[in-house]
Amino acid sequence: MKKAIILDLDNTIYPVSSISENLFSVVFDFVDSLAGELGSEEVEKAKAEMQRRPYQQVAEKFNFSEAAKNKGLDLLKDLEYALPMQPYDEYKVISETPIEKYLVTTGFTKLQWSKIKLLGIEADFKAIYIVDPQISAKTKKDIFTMIMNNNNYQPDELLIIGDDPESEIKAASALGIDTFLFDPEDRHPGAAVTHSSKSLKDAVAVFM
Ligand SMILES: [Mg+2]
Repeated sequence: MKKAIILDLDNTIYPVSSISENLFSVVFDFVDSLAGELGSEEVEKAKAEMQRRPYQQVAEKFNFSEAAKNKGLDLLKDLEYALPMQPYDEYKVISETPIEKYLVTTGFTKLQWSKIKLLGIEADFKAIYIVDPQISAKTKKDIFTMIMNNNNYQPDELLIIGDDPESEIKAASALGIDTFLFDPEDRHPGAAVTHSSKSLKDAVAVFM
């Protein structure tokens, strides 16, 4: 049995696709306006990627100009979500399982907090950390290390649950922490993970 689990938020506790149309409409309009600069095919790819990756990484990958990058940052840093949100049904199985839980999520501070509040999950966690590249150079790996140091956890006493092999999964692996990749659409069949499943609730058997 593990002593604690660390969860990612976006696409792990709830599907970003459920809010992206409303949330991103203003940001997508802005990305659409870059069609002259990027080409319309790249614009569509960038919009799809924004549902899975931090904006800064998307802007970098698709070579947004400095002016475009900053305009997007201005839009996003004050954005909050305000419509009702629902976690994945299976998240309930995780939240009801008695084990210490931490939430570590990358994104804009205001936006991530608005989602946490709307999902009603704040009380599920011993601590919540937002990794906001606009505010700090700290990474998920830094936060995982801090959680271990502050609570005297050994790597083998923890499990990281997330959807992104390049983000929390990679950071956890580098620290020798077991990983559970939630991969409902089978997007990452060859990913280097300890456990992987299409079903979030399968994680319970791993940490209990
Ligand atoms: Mg995620």
